[in-house]
Amino acid sequence: MQSSSDRVGFIGLGIMGLPMALNLIKNGHSLVIYNRTRSKAASLQALGAKVVESPREVAKECGITISVLTDAVDVEQVLTEKDGYLSGCKEGEIFVDMGTNSPRGAKRLESILAAKGVGFLDAPVTGGQRGAQDGTLTIMVGGKETDFERARALFEHMGKKVVYAGPTGSGQLLKLCNQVVVALDMLACTEAFMIARKAGVSDTKLFEVLSNGAANSFTVQNLLPKIMKNDLEPGFKVAHLKKDLSYAADLAKEVGVPVLGTSTVLQLYTALTEMGYGEKGTQALKKVYDALSTRDKTTG
Ligand code: NAP
Repeated sequence: MQSSSDRVGFIGLGIMGLPMALNLIKNGHSLVIYNRTRSKAASLQALGAKVVESPREVAKECGITISVLTDAVDVEQVLTEKDGYLSGCKEGEIFVDMGTNSPRGAKRLESILAAKGVGFLDAPVTGGQRGAQDGTLTIMVGGKETDFERARALFEHMGKKVVYAGPTGSGQLLKLCNQVVVALDMLACTEAFMIARKAGVSDTKLFEVLSNGAANSFTVQNLLPKIMKNDLEPGFKVAHLKKDLSYAADLAKEVGVPVLGTSTVLQLYTALTEMGYGEKGTQALKKVYDALSTRDKTTG
């Protein structure tokens, strides 16, 4: 019979969580899963994962629990709500938040869990939906190194590069820096695409050049083709990038660094959310440029 320390809890089966959990199953882990919208758990249940009705049941059955939720407030809700994780956890367990949140949020979660004797790791990821599916994520981990070592095998079964970043919040610090690069690259790709289209350059030639020279990147490879096809399905949602950029701008303010690029893309993604594209993929940035171009025409 399996003990609770053998089983892994998994909470949050969205675009990222579902394939990450699937890779744990494929690598031989026994999973206890919970998702607010239960239907999303069906494919993993068919592969042997145990579906439960609350985070409390996850905590009761597992020594290590992973969450891949939207934001720190959602993690806190899953911990503290009625039948939440805290109502079922035991001293000595570890809770790992793999969503993207703020370093400050990570420290708050750590203190909430520490009151119950549960260890906490912030372990955000990069590599997108494809990386989650292929098990090629890069995972950056903050928290106690002893807790990191206990969870390391799980990270290695979801990613190809696992970096121990330092104390609690350090994973989120690295992730926010990553998001600044990701967002500014999207801005650059969108502007290059808009200029090329208006100037009559073919999509094929633009892609051929950008993907084979100094401009090549994850965004060029994976999202520029979607911009070209006007395919707005997420991958990575606009609302989530807006959240990340907002955290990055707060962090920059805290450490006294001017962030001219980050504030620009934050404003653009805020506008995009207000235009109703929050649940679309980040490549929808093009829609802001479309709107501005249309306005230029009508206002002469
Ligand atoms: P998603 O598809 O929107 O999934 C979000 C998940 O969180 C869903 O399972 C949702 O449950 C659950 N959830 C949200 N709020 C909740 C709450 N209050 N209580 C219970 N469950 C809640 O998002 P995602 O793309 O997987 O992203 C998850 C995290 O990873 C985010 O922090 C994001 O920034 C980060 N991330 C995403 C990517 C990417 O490319 N997508 C890459 C790196 C990092 P329901 O199913 O019931 O809605």
